[in-house]
Amino acid sequence: MDFNLTEKEKMIKTMARDFADRSVRPLAREIDRSGDFPRELASQMGNLGFYGLPYPQEYGGSGSGYTGYVLAIEELCRASMAVGAIVAVDSLAEESIYRFGNEEQKRDFLLPLASGKYLACYAFTEAATGSDPRAIVTRARPVAEGYVIEGEKIFSALSPAAAIALVFAKDETERVSAFIVDTLSPGFEVRHPWDMMGARGLGTSAIYLDGVRIPESNLLGEKGQGYEVLLEALSVGKLGVSAEGVGVGQEALDLSIAYANERTAYGRPISNLPTIQWLLAEMATRVDAARWLTYRTAFLRDQGENIQKDSAIAKLFCSQAAVEVTRMAMQVHGAYGYTKEMDIERLYRDAKLTEIYEGISEIQRVIIASNMVR
Ligand SMILES: Cc1cc2nc3c(=O)[nH]c(=O)nc-3n(C[C@H](O)[C@H](O)[C@H](O)COP(=O)(O)OP(=O)(O)OC[C@H]3O[C@@H](n4cnc5c(N)ncnc54)[C@H](O)[C@@H]3O)c2cc1C
Repeated sequence: MDFNLTEKEKMIKTMARDFADRSVRPLAREIDRSGDFPRELASQMGNLGFYGLPYPQEYGGSGSGYTGYVLAIEELCRASMAVGAIVAVDSLAEESIYRFGNEEQKRDFLLPLASGKYLACYAFTEAATGSDPRAIVTRARPVAEGYVIEGEKIFSALSPAAAIALVFAKDETERVSAFIVDTLSPGFEVRHPWDMMGARGLGTSAIYLDGVRIPESNLLGEKGQGYEVLLEALSVGKLGVSAEGVGVGQEALDLSIAYANERTAYGRPISNLPTIQWLLAEMATRVDAARWLTYRTAFLRDQGENIQKDSAIAKLFCSQAAVEVTRMAMQVHGAYGYTKEMDIERLYRDAKLTEIYEGISEIQRVIIASNMVR
């Protein structure tokens, strides 16, 4: 076992940390306050190559593997989870096209995505389709030149800024297929971004598909292969969410150590109190365990393994860790942590999302258990 990062991975980590400290951190509170999608930062991340880290150069990436991908997300999320999550959400469509697309689709869609020319959103969830994918009602009706899509998607991050959407719909065989949709197509409309508790600025919105025509060539994978596309993409998406949890947890820990050394009670820094030391030790342990679980899962993907179970384990643990660590950080900060003057309350709100999106924790337990028992 080699726990060392390669020179290339160290470089990605340093580059992401520099960018996060220099460009993201100064804007993090304002992104959270306004809830506006940070278009300029999203475009800068494209120029820096953050969207193409795992993919080969011929498809616009840098061939830095999934370990490079989690390192970048972790560092970005230390400054702002909403910004780091852009990389993770964008990877859902990229991974889908990389794994299931034909050469033409990889050239036409993966290449511009991985090289940061534009973003993609993922449109699976519907009003009745949260954890139960069978409840999908969006329809793809075959016509002479391809398909016509009708339906509504309820939560789709990045959608106000995306040039393409990966839309899941039931075809005439009642099976779900995945379609690459140009967001400028007539009938495609992004409406009312949600006013979210955390990860504000991720642009999570509803999408209306009213007779959207797409060519046959935009069917991704085989007809009826939609669930396979979804599960494969989510296994990498969950890896990204795990890294989000690690980044948020690390930031909460760092802020807590600094605050505990600075804040005094009874004439001494509160870092001398056994109760505070206990909290810091618990936080550090959870962050460290979450980090290595995430890196190990990324390493497995770099070896070409199927990580559906491993990424469920990583997401379940890392999201719980992020929620617990930010709660403990709030305790270390006391009343000041509860104010908007400090970043702890933002981290506390952001962390909760990791237990919810890309599959709630309950579903991760189902995936893990069903891989072990009949
Ligand atoms: C900020 C944000 C961004 C998002 N971005 C996207 C996106 O880009 N694309 C997209 O398609 N979706 C997106 N989503 C949707 C998200 O992935 C779903 O909301 C999530 O999968 C959970 O579905 P649900 O909310 O309908 O929960 P539900 O399925 O309604 O579940 C509610 C609760 O019921 C319980 N429960 C449900 N099923 C089970 C079960 N089988 N076993 C045990 N307990 C269960 C759990 O406690 C769960 O928390 C986003 C959501 C948010 C909040």
